[in-house]
Amino acid sequence: MASDTNSRGRKRALSFASLRALLVRAAAQNPVPLLVLRLPDFERTAWRSGKPAARRLERKTTSAFLTAAANALRGGDLAAHDPGSDVFAIAMAAPARAFGRISPVDCRSVLERVAAALHAVTELRIETGWIVLQRFDPAASLEPEIERALERGARERERYEFFSTVGHELRTPLASIRGYLETLLEGDVDRDTAARFLRTARREALRMGRLVDGMFEFSLLDLSAGALLGRHCRLGEQIDAAFDVVGPGAAARSVAVRRANRDDATVALDPDACLQILVNLIDNAAKYGREGGIVAVSVEVRGDDAVIVVDDDGPGIAACNRDSIFGLRVRGPQSGSRPGTGIGLAIVKMIVERSGGQIRVLDSPLGGARFEALLPRADSEAQAS
Ligand code: ADP
Repeated sequence: MASDTNSRGRKRALSFASLRALLVRAAAQNPVPLLVLRLPDFERTAWRSGKPAARRLERKTTSAFLTAAANALRGGDLAAHDPGSDVFAIAMAAPARAFGRISPVDCRSVLERVAAALHAVTELRIETGWIVLQRFDPAASLEPEIERALERGARERERYEFFSTVGHELRTPLASIRGYLETLLEGDVDRDTAARFLRTARREALRMGRLVDGMFEFSLLDLSAGALLGRHCRLGEQIDAAFDVVGPGAAARSVAVRRANRDDATVALDPDACLQILVNLIDNAAKYGREGGIVAVSVEVRGDDAVIVVDDDGPGIAACNRDSIFGLRVRGPQSGSRPGTGIGLAIVKMIVERSGGQIRVLDSPLGGARFEALLPRADSEAQAS
C-alpha cells in the first residue's frame, strides 16, 4: 500500500492531490476501483470538543484507517486522506490486480473492514461507496468521483435494506400457509373449518404475490441517478393508460375515475416510470377513497414543471403522517383491511425525486387526499412556452 512517512517515521495517508496524480497514471493502464468512506459528523464532533481533542481524533482515525487499509490492501494500492477532511479514499491500483477481474465482493469487503475500524475508534456514522475509474482525466478533479462513489453506495444500501425487509416479510405469509396446510393434512378438521383455512391460505398466497410483484417493480427500477432522464412522455397518454390499469379495481368499489381537466404536458421522464407513478397514485385514491366516490386526475403546468394532481374523497391523510407514508413498507392507519404492501408510495417518491421532481400530500377540495407529483417538463417544451 502506498502512503507517505513523515519526519517522525509515522505513516501518513497520501494527500488527495497526490492520489489524484497517481490515479491519472494508474487508470491510464488499467481500470481502478476507487473506494470512499465519509464520516459526515466527523468535523462537527471533532471541533465541538476543542482543538487538541479534534487533533487527537484526527490522528487516531487516520492511524486506524492506515492500519485497516494496510491489512486489507496490497502493495501499490493507495490510501488517501487530507487532515481535517471527513473523507478517506482508497484506490485499488496494485499492479497485481490488473490480471484479475475487479470483484465487487472484494471492494465491498475492503470497505466494510476499513469502515468497521473507523467506527471502532470514532463511533461515528460512516457512509461508504465505490466506483471503477476506467480512466482519469489529468484536468479532472477528484471530488465528483468521490460523490459518485458515495451516491452509488447509498443506492446499494437502499436496495439491500429493501430486499432484506421484503425477504423478512415474505416469511410471515409463507409460515402461515404452511401452518394451515399442515393442519389440513393432519385431517382433523371439519368441512367448514377446512374451507376457512383454505381461504386464509389463498389470501396469504395472494399477499405474497403482491409482495413479490412490488419487489420486482422495485428491482426493475434503475436506481442510478439520471437513468430515468433523457426520456420523455406525454402525461395525457400515460393518464389514459393508467385508467385502463386501475379501471377494474376502481369499478369493484364503484369509484368513478375521471380527468378533471384536459391539460397536457411533456415531461422529462421515462414513460414506464411515469405510468408507474400514475398507477400507484390513482390506485391508492380508488382504494382509500369513499366507496362509490370519485377520483379526479388533472395536469397543471407551472413554469418549467408539470404537476400531476390526484384527488380523492376518502379520509385523507393526517398532517403527522404526510412524510412517513412515503417510507418503504410503511402503511398508514387508514390501510385497515385493504390489501397493500406499503411499497407503492416509496416507489413513487423514488422515481419522482430521481427525475428531479417532488411529491407531496395535501388536503383535497374533494374532502380526501390530494397527491401532487411535480415533474420537470421536457426541455424543448419548457423552452418553447
Ligand atoms: P399500500 O397502499 O400498499 O399500503 P402505499 O405505499 O401505496 O402502500 O401507501 C402507504 C400508505 O399511505 C397506505 O397504507 C395508506 O395508509 C396511505 N395512503 C396512500 N394513498 C392514500 C390515499 N389516497 N388516501 C388515504 N391514505 C392513503
